Amino acid sequence: MATLAQTIHAPRSEAVSNVARLDPETAWAAFMRRDRAWDGRVIGAVKTTGIYCKPSCPARRPKRENVQFFASGEEARAAGFRPCLRCKPDEVGRDREAVAQAVKLIEAAEEAPTLDEVAAAVGYAPHHFQRLFKRDLGVSPAEYSRALRMLRAQSALKENDRVTDAIYDAGYSGPSGFYSDAKERLGMTPSAWRDGGRGETIRWTTFDSPLGTMLIASTSKGICRLTFDDSEASLARHFPNATIVQDDGGMRELVEGALAAIEHPNAAPELPIDVAGTAFQEKVWRELRKIPLGETRSYAEIAAAIGQPTAVRAVGTANGDNHVAVLIPCHRVIRSDGTLGGYAGGLDRKRHLLAVEGHLSASPELPLVD
Ligand SMILES: [Zn+2]
Repeated sequence: MATLAQTIHAPRSEAVSNVARLDPETAWAAFMRRDRAWDGRVIGAVKTTGIYCKPSCPARRPKRENVQFFASGEEARAAGFRPCLRCKPDEVGRDREAVAQAVKLIEAAEEAPTLDEVAAAVGYAPHHFQRLFKRDLGVSPAEYSRALRMLRAQSALKENDRVTDAIYDAGYSGPSGFYSDAKERLGMTPSAWRDGGRGETIRWTTFDSPLGTMLIASTSKGICRLTFDDSEASLARHFPNATIVQDDGGMRELVEGALAAIEHPNAAPELPIDVAGTAFQEKVWRELRKIPLGETRSYAEIAAAIGQPTAVRAVGTANGDNHVAVLIPCHRVIRSDGTLGGYAGGLDRKRHLLAVEGHLSASPELPLVD
């Protein structure tokens, strides 16, 4: 069973060690976006100046043909390059090291250490360190301690609970929203999730739908994303080790299927879906797929249907963690009082989907599009 620290650090440290295998186009795209998420994962060295930078460096972008990529500043130095004085690319590595050290400290402590204690132990000023920690892990050291306690309490309470085991085994951090990226990574099988999609080729395209521009992405097995967030950047962030290929022509059939599911759901083809989450999430998602067209269920009804009637909130969270909109019909789950509840894509889209589906069967109580 992975410790929490391994859980948190696995995706990043693997990303670092595997960056050499990283597609240079993906690395270049990160530099063009000045993507901070890739700082510490890839180094870009400029042959004409002999200087290397991190992706977020504010300096003017060099010509593509003059840039060589490395996994670390160390490798760039070994090849004869010098660090950029402006973006100080090596400090990212030192910062990450300090954060990793702080995590170990927090995990080993009997009682949650204060921010001052943690910062002093790793040799940083408290406020500066808080910012670094948060940038890396998405939470403050105090929030990390709290989540850690919560996880330990859970695992003690539910020692024989397969769901808890599955969450740990899958490398998830547990409480949703704890690790900012975790939610975004659930579209993969647990092993692929840990590897950031290594070995997978993910094809994607965007298309116009009645709900706005959508992004559809697919592995060789099926659709892994259908979202209202149409940026390639988000795909690269979620699957840092996957080969990500824009394929407008090759995705046409899946796009047509997705459009049919939105526009004429009663005549839509069955599309292959390739998602895997924790055992609990999969249970919820499978249950969502059983809600007949034109009907809705409450969060409580889904919780009851999967045999965990008290897990209403967790059902809501798993519902929100669904990244294959429409096809895994999380929009068909509403509150027990009949109000719409939430929707990642916004309530207007939920209302629209339900209205289109509502017209297909007798569901006069469903809200209609304005
Ligand atoms: Zn620089």
